Amino acid sequence: MSLTVTTKRVSHFDQNARIITDTTTNETMIIDPGAEADLLFDMVSATTVTMIVLTHCHIDHAGGVTRLLELFDHANRKRPQLFYHSKDIIIGEHLEDFAKNYGFSATDYQNPPHPDQLIDSLSSIKLGSKTFTVYFTPGHAPGHIVLYYDNDDFKLAGDYSEILDCNRLLIAGDTLFHGSIGRTDLPMGNHSELIQSIKTQLLTLPDTTLVCAGHGPNTTIGNEAHSNPFLN
Ligand SMILES: [Zn+2]
Repeated sequence: MSLTVTTKRVSHFDQNARIITDTTTNETMIIDPGAEADLLFDMVSATTVTMIVLTHCHIDHAGGVTRLLELFDHANRKRPQLFYHSKDIIIGEHLEDFAKNYGFSATDYQNPPHPDQLIDSLSSIKLGSKTFTVYFTPGHAPGHIVLYYDNDDFKLAGDYSEILDCNRLLIAGDTLFHGSIGRTDLPMGNHSELIQSIKTQLLTLPDTTLVCAGHGPNTTIGNEAHSNPFLN
């Protein structure tokens, strides 16, 4: 009947991994499993995981994918399809180098495999009976995408479960945060592109859209459109 969106903070960067389940069909997608794959795998034990979707391939969003897929293989469970944008493949290929620079090991974070499905040409993706619109929102990363759910039948669970009187849902990755925006000082970041993505693709969504950000608490499009200091 509805969607359940469960947030779990993972990684050294407190990234918000998300597990979204269509409660009608019990189909699940995992978004941005940046680390703690074993724990995320346990959380989806009673569902059918059809997809892993990456908003982008930075270490804290993509570093747990390889381990997670191994767990599906070891348990003889059907391997979910991995979706992300072609422009982030190069970032994923250097994830372990990046981890080393931060002093982490390749057991903490691993390069993800190439996507099974490029998200580039998809305007929407389907989870069970539910449809999410895909928006291409480069700037923080060259292949960054967000997912928008144009319906009000969702519930939140886990970390940051405040719904803030919202009736639409945006999985925003590292585009827009409560009072802030994604950093653009990492390789291939582009500040003006990010501002353009936010203003043309995100701020045009309804004010009552709940913004589930990649880090920190939820916010709303209305709040950020009116008070985000980086956008005014
Ligand atoms: Zn990022």
